[in-house]
Amino acid sequence: MSSLEERGDVGVAAVATPGSSSSAGLGVGAVGAGLEAGPGGAGLVGGQDEAGLRREGPGPEADPDAPPKKRVRLQEGEAGKLEERLYSVLCCTVCLDLPKASVYQCTNGHLMCAGCFIHLLADARLKEEQATCPNCRCEISKSLCCRNLAVEKAVSELPCECGFCLKQFPRSVLERHQKEECQDRVTQCKYKRIGCPWQGPFHELTVHEAECCHPTKTGNELMGILDEMDQSHRKEMQLYNSIFSLLCFEKIGFTEVQFRPYRTDDFITRLYYETPRFTVLNQTWVLKARVNDSERNPNLSCKRTLSFQLILKSKVNSALECSYLLLKGPYDDVKIKPVIYHYVFSNDTNETDYMPLPIIDSVECNKLLAAKNINLRLFIFQIQK
Ligand SMILES: [Zn+2]
Ligand SMILES: [Zn+2]
Ligand SMILES: [Zn+2]
Ligand SMILES: [Zn+2]
Repeated sequence: MSSLEERGDVGVAAVATPGSSSSAGLGVGAVGAGLEAGPGGAGLVGGQDEAGLRREGPGPEADPDAPPKKRVRLQEGEAGKLEERLYSVLCCTVCLDLPKASVYQCTNGHLMCAGCFIHLLADARLKEEQATCPNCRCEISKSLCCRNLAVEKAVSELPCECGFCLKQFPRSVLERHQKEECQDRVTQCKYKRIGCPWQGPFHELTVHEAECCHPTKTGNELMGILDEMDQSHRKEMQLYNSIFSLLCFEKIGFTEVQFRPYRTDDFITRLYYETPRFTVLNQTWVLKARVNDSERNPNLSCKRTLSFQLILKSKVNSALECSYLLLKGPYDDVKIKPVIYHYVFSNDTNETDYMPLPIIDSVECNKLLAAKNINLRLFIFQIQK
């Protein structure tokens, strides 16, 4: 069965909190098997999904290459269970993740990670209310709540998976491991500055650099390469300059958009996405998106893309010329390269063509497909003549 079909049930999922997609990285393993896994993926999430349920799937035992020196593996059955039990004891009662930094507690002992604690206080400030513990409703504030050092230390001792080599390490050393020690961490050739595009695992770096052809190139060849690099920089600058000039327009609107998955009612159903109607610049709009341009079996292909279409739902008196731009929203960690699109909307031409959603690669696309919804931010700039 394809990973996309497994997701069929998601199609009718009701509204989810936008923040819940933080665990999106987890689906990547299944969908994009064999593709590069980055740090911050499955390993850091703490093994609980947004509903707070234990996830099935590869646990510590999925790692056949664990070094023999690890005692944990000897008593895996019990240790695994204890760790699992500790996860649910030590996790933040708000986001259900294991806290990565400071842990606060309410006067009744309910734990909150620093991020959630600050978020609760900030929300209360905005609503002009007294902040309360989401568990017991007692008042919380910076002076009423204190840190819980024992929990912080216990969490830092719990094992966590390196996103590159998939081995387990105590949280306290994981960051250093991923940055400096992991033999599988992604590195770039030191001749990148003169155009070498190589990137790969650290353990292959020395071999590559020894045989890298870039340092032996002639001055003339290097000039050519540098010219090309300059050109791509210039293109990027142009893009940012045009975004900055769009930001000077009189009529700009933006909003958070949430693409939700649906299925067509064809004989073989197809996944597509649609946002609820939203209002920008006093007009009603809808965004639609489809996978691999509605290819019949996108699950059979490794290459995944999303394309999207902007539709004007309101009637307009005169043509509406717009530039528009999709960017990462505040609640999702999508890697998206900004691209400016342009279209003249009227009552007859109220739908743009499907344009590729400029995400960086298939892995990123799978991450979006694995999430419950896709949250982005849409900007519309109205061009006035
Ligand atoms: Zn939290
Ligand atoms: Zn409480
Ligand atoms: Zn590692
Ligand atoms: Zn190189």
